[in-house]
Amino acid sequence: MKNIDTYDFTGKKAIVRVDFNVPLDADFNITDDTRIRAAIPTLKKILAGGGALIVMSHLGKPKDPAEKFSLKHIVARVQELLGVPVQFAPDCQKADEQAAALKPGDVLLLENLRFYAEEEGKPRGLAEDASEEEKKAAKAAVKESQKAFTAKLASYADCYVNDAFGTAHRAHASTSLIAKYFPKDKMFGYLMEAEITAIDKVVKNPVHPVTAVLGGAKVSSKIGIIENLIDKVDNIIIGGGMVYTFVKAQGGKVGKSLCEDDQIETALNILAKAKEKGVKMVFGEEVVVADAFDNEAKSQVVNKMDIPDGWMGMDAAPSSVALWKEVIDNSKTVLWNGPMGVFEMSNFATGTNAMARLLAEATAKGTFTLVGGGDSVAAINQLGYADKVSYVSTGGGAMLEYLEGIELPGIKAIRE
Ligand code: AMP
Repeated sequence: MKNIDTYDFTGKKAIVRVDFNVPLDADFNITDDTRIRAAIPTLKKILAGGGALIVMSHLGKPKDPAEKFSLKHIVARVQELLGVPVQFAPDCQKADEQAAALKPGDVLLLENLRFYAEEEGKPRGLAEDASEEEKKAAKAAVKESQKAFTAKLASYADCYVNDAFGTAHRAHASTSLIAKYFPKDKMFGYLMEAEITAIDKVVKNPVHPVTAVLGGAKVSSKIGIIENLIDKVDNIIIGGGMVYTFVKAQGGKVGKSLCEDDQIETALNILAKAKEKGVKMVFGEEVVVADAFDNEAKSQVVNKMDIPDGWMGMDAAPSSVALWKEVIDNSKTVLWNGPMGVFEMSNFATGTNAMARLLAEATAKGTFTLVGGGDSVAAINQLGYADKVSYVSTGGGAMLEYLEGIELPGIKAIRE
């Protein structure tokens, strides 16, 4: 494994996997270019070092090539952000001539890798009633043709850089398989490095006390993280819809609140394990409940163990915020994943807003704060606190798997 800072790119062609999976509106305008901007430092570094770029990405989940998933819609924006012309290869498997003609400082963007089933290595177009044998044969066929697909991409370049943290949890052609073609010339880009460093500050070498703030909808989707983190953290603050499964598990009444009955046992196991390990589980005494899942619904603050029939838990109560503040103020490392209530509804965003503010205050006092995973990123952006925490992860699923302790294929392929 090489390092992007010390690698000599002079006269080399670098194939760089980025995550340009940006949202487009109906007219193919980019509505949020965060992911493109996140890869620019890596791309600029290679160009400044005398290299040429072959940039590759996926966009959306196409079943076949389709206009709305074409990366041609983002060429102008990449060009603007890079400050140099960007050529486009309309077929990622037929870019030999364009790649061969690249001179130092040139940039070539390949069309969506997922226009080919070989990128993901999953068969497409199988009949719904396909037999197990047919499915197996189709899978074997795509795995076989994936080799040639990967080799073609590799043939364009002299070195490989992976800067797509958002897809690092996928063992796809461009995120992992291609690395083996560059045993001495493969490296992480700056975004990958920053993501790994930030998450390692929580899971590998954290400064204690460490607090994990886990909200969001379901215990079932957070169980892997809780199990991995319970040996590493000092406190776990539980918020959001997850609270009610814990309430029911402890004999409370949850009314119409979100509750996963099949996770009651899991919730009890988590509580027992936390007790055994000396991890403090932090729940508020009270919650804000509503009589409907609606921003305009009637609401009141009640004891979380005694939610009246017909009411549902929607947000954290002010008394919980005071409790969180004490815990966060006494932490040196804080991880936050998942909103503390139904933050999409302004009347029930108070808890999530308060948590964002507490993290911003802690960061200002020197605490390392990491926010990541889908909705927590949306929440911190929506509330305007993104630049007031230490790090906001760009990789939803990838970050969650890393937090679960899984070695991500995209990271492993570069390191081994
Ligand atoms: P997750 O993807 O697991 O982080 O869950 C995020 C979702 O959890 C958001 O859409 C929130 O609206 C939702 N959520 C948070 N608190 C609650 C709650 N008390 N009841 C229902 N949904 C909630």
